[in-house]
Amino acid sequence: MSAILEAAAGVFGLVIGSFIGVVVDRLPRQESIVSPPSHCVACSAPVRAYDNIPVVSYVVLRGRCRACGARIPPRDALLELGIGILFVLLAWRLTSAWALPAYCVLAAAVVGISAIDVEHMRIPSTLVYSTAVLGAPLLVLASAGTHRWSALLGALIGGAVAFAAFFTLFFAVPKGIGFGDVRLAGLCGGFLGWMGYREVIVGFLISFIVAGVPAAVLLAMHKVNRRTQIPFGPFLAAGTVITVLFGAPVIHAWASL
Ligand SMILES: [Zn+2]
Repeated sequence: MSAILEAAAGVFGLVIGSFIGVVVDRLPRQESIVSPPSHCVACSAPVRAYDNIPVVSYVVLRGRCRACGARIPPRDALLELGIGILFVLLAWRLTSAWALPAYCVLAAAVVGISAIDVEHMRIPSTLVYSTAVLGAPLLVLASAGTHRWSALLGALIGGAVAFAAFFTLFFAVPKGIGFGDVRLAGLCGGFLGWMGYREVIVGFLISFIVAGVPAAVLLAMHKVNRRTQIPFGPFLAAGTVITVLFGAPVIHAWASL
């Protein structure tokens, strides 16, 4: 895909990242994500439009409120930057621009879900459901544009199998994963399933590997014990996004076996 598309996706990603920052901040506190407008948490001064430019404003203001000088947590700027970069990578890596809207929605959502999971140890079901509701028609669009209607069946099966597998895990391993992880697995399985069944398997394998390595290191260092709760959402997100972006060589090698 062209450099123009990648640049446009990046700018769009910064804006969506800014919105995800609001969601991550307000959704766990059950606050409206549309009102009131952004304001400084220290002095309540409204954030002016020219101070609300993703990443740029944070750098220009050196991470401080223009009105009172209170430090602004870097989380929002990091979310904006991260989602901006992911959108550029998706525009670069996806084989069809038709699939770009669906996978941008997925990437923005799983980054937001991960941020909430790390901070609050839970995954809001509303966020998972809204992503599914928004993503489903976009996957239909992707299928229409690429003439891959069977991919929709793959998405349904991928989502159902992943949900069932994590549902089993949820009951088999008490306190292992939360039910939010079960819903998120269904969501990720659906998007991976649209690409193919191998993507589902590779995606979840990567999730368990990226989760298992740091967990094993922390266990060995006695920094955590077996009962320490570790949020699994970010690992599911990472496995899924890594597979969508960079899984192709692995999938091709497997398919040609
Ligand atoms: Zn302030």
